[in-house]
Amino acid sequence: MKQPIIGYTKDEEDHWVAKLACGHHQHVRHDPPWTNRLWVTTQEGRERHINVELECKKCDQGAVRDFP
Ligand SMILES: [Zn+2]
Repeated sequence: MKQPIIGYTKDEEDHWVAKLACGHHQHVRHDPPWTNRLWVTTQEGRERHINVELECKKCDQGAVRDFP
């Protein structure tokens, strides 16, 4: 299910995690060459991706929310 990004947080390993409108977290790693998300490394890039939709597999699985 597509869900828009509403904010960001970091995990315990200092990786960026997107907060989705559905209440789920999703990692948005910049891990080239496999995952190229240079935008996530800058404040400007992260702000630019607010409201961009990501595919949320947790919704498809009916997972409980990651944050209130
Ligand atoms: Zn979700």
